[in-house]
Amino acid sequence: MSALPQPRLPRLPRVRLSARWRWSLWSLMVVLVGALLVTLVWLAGRYEASQVQSKLERDTADAVADVRNGLTRNIQTLQALHAANPATPAWAAEAAQLLRSHREWMRIEWRDARLVTLLFADTPYRQPVFARLGRANASADVAQACTNARRISAPAYSASYFVPQIDGLGVEVMELCMPQVVAGEVTGYLVATYSLQEILTDMVPKPLARSQDVSFTEADGTRLALHGSARRGSRIFTAQQLVDLPGNTLVLRIDSWRGAPDLFPNVLTALVTAMSIALVSVLVMLGKDTRRRLRAESDLAEALAFRKAMEDSLVTGLRARDLQGRITYVNPAFCQMVGFSAEELLGHGVPAPYWPPELADEYNQRQAIRLAGQHAPPREGFESVFMRKDGSRFPVLIIEAPLINAHGVQTGWMSAFLDVSEQRRVEELSRASQDRLQATARLATVGEMASLLSHELNQPLAAIASYANGSMNLLREGPHAMADLEVAMRRIAEQAERAGKVIRSVHDFVRRRDQAREAVAPRALLDAIMPLVSLQARKLYVRVETRLQDGLPAVLCDRTMVEQVLLNLTRNAMQAMASAGTADRAVLIQVRRAGTSEHSAKVWLEFSVADHGPGIPDEVAQQLFTPFFTTKAEGMGLGLSLCRTVVEQHGGFLGFEPNPPRGTIFRFTLPADSGPA
Ligand code: ADP
Repeated sequence: MSALPQPRLPRLPRVRLSARWRWSLWSLMVVLVGALLVTLVWLAGRYEASQVQSKLERDTADAVADVRNGLTRNIQTLQALHAANPATPAWAAEAAQLLRSHREWMRIEWRDARLVTLLFADTPYRQPVFARLGRANASADVAQACTNARRISAPAYSASYFVPQIDGLGVEVMELCMPQVVAGEVTGYLVATYSLQEILTDMVPKPLARSQDVSFTEADGTRLALHGSARRGSRIFTAQQLVDLPGNTLVLRIDSWRGAPDLFPNVLTALVTAMSIALVSVLVMLGKDTRRRLRAESDLAEALAFRKAMEDSLVTGLRARDLQGRITYVNPAFCQMVGFSAEELLGHGVPAPYWPPELADEYNQRQAIRLAGQHAPPREGFESVFMRKDGSRFPVLIIEAPLINAHGVQTGWMSAFLDVSEQRRVEELSRASQDRLQATARLATVGEMASLLSHELNQPLAAIASYANGSMNLLREGPHAMADLEVAMRRIAEQAERAGKVIRSVHDFVRRRDQAREAVAPRALLDAIMPLVSLQARKLYVRVETRLQDGLPAVLCDRTMVEQVLLNLTRNAMQAMASAGTADRAVLIQVRRAGTSEHSAKVWLEFSVADHGPGIPDEVAQQLFTPFFTTKAEGMGLGLSLCRTVVEQHGGFLGFEPNPPRGTIFRFTLPADSGPA
């Protein structure tokens, strides 16, 4: 069953609690995501730094290896110089040659076993290094290196030392001493002076020095020689390694400079940062979305609460059915009306539990027609009879409309029900009381008529009596009086007929006739009341005049009732004039076309009864139509209230106005028959 969603309202305290809970969850998530992002960025930075650092360490190790290799190769080169016991001039030439191809050497010396210099050669690339200091000043360093060399019978280095130059600058140099051993005896030394600066320039791979500083330092960090570019950036990465040489230990240090302050040091960090920003944006969007959803949720809850309150307060029963005729929704008023609970009704197909069994077939047919969609239900609704759970029947007014969903597709029918049993009861009551009122009014009129009748019948009866007496006398006079006797008898017959007419007119009026509406010519209505009106008019000395417009259509009315209205109004008019002792005692009854309204083509006739009586004072006017209100001693006070009811039942209007200079006009309207008169 696809039931209409029954409104299940979220309980408000829970909503509020969960909202607070949701907020703290959100805050926690934001904090966690923030912490995560900061950690990520920091880790990425650290990772990047460690990458740089380890690369630097590798570069340093490479540089140290290169330097060591270079030095070893140089030792071999120098050994080659002395391989063949050199002749003095050749040695100098060869040494000069070597110095030309090795910029790191400042000077090469050949010394004897007592370290006395036999031959030497200076680098051709600069002024002789010891020109200013004097070579003798460095003899301690040379001696240290050579002592070491002799002890280990292998090349050895001295500690580095600073040699000031003629141009005011200086170079950090280091001695290499290679002992020459012949038959186990040291016969001399080859001493080569290295410039640390040139070692860095020549032996460290060029790319390393391009973007970073390469230097030799002492153990305490004092810089001895430096090679490399100027500083770039403020962040420094440093790696250092020992260059362990026989007799000397140098520290090779590489300083790498990074751009500063570097927020996005590399692609990884940039990526992480970008992802973080994206994540935060998504979070913000999610937050906004959640806020919108919350607002929509609370709006919906409010709308549902409103709908529920509305449904509960409705006295109209509501029921929805799907296209198969199953009940999908009922409101409390409907349940109350039929006495079944919503659970008992929902999902129920035909026959519905509130259908009286004797009418189920008829309702089934009606529903089949409705579901087939052949006939749209009447907009003003239709009446039906339902059965309560206790078996009692009651009339309902049903108004049906198709149920259209959000996609414009009909999903069933929605019906509204009004319990009209109370209305029917009141209508029945008022009809009965009206009937009683009419009967009473009639009786009152009849009472009045009885006295009138006696007055009116007196005349013909007296005439008949006198004619009868005369006839008897004529009979006695003999046959010659036959002609007079005949006249007398005819007069008797005439008077008897007149008396009969009087009686018949009263009889006609009092007799109850069917209340069917019929088309009656206005003239016929007036003619019908005229005998009775004339009776009273004569008694009260009133002249009654009628005036009808030409070509009037027929009136569609309950003839007897309208005659009663005309009679009442005319009688009131006559009585008013008689009681006030008016001199001009004339009643004018007029019938004419009333103005048609622009909204309807219906034609109305207006009847008016005008008198020259005393008029109606205000205090009387206010109660004129109240039943039993009368100013007359013998009055019943029912006439006007009844008249108005009758006219209004015909859809017309009854009112009154002064008739200047004196008197009152009562007017009422009745619908003309639309068919041919
Ligand atoms: P009843 O005629 O039995 O008194 P009605 O309902 O016909 O009852 O009239 C109520 C009262 O309205 C009358 O008693 C009278 O005072 C006043 N009335 C009715 N018609 C006229 C009229 N044409 N002129 C003055 N007064 C009138």
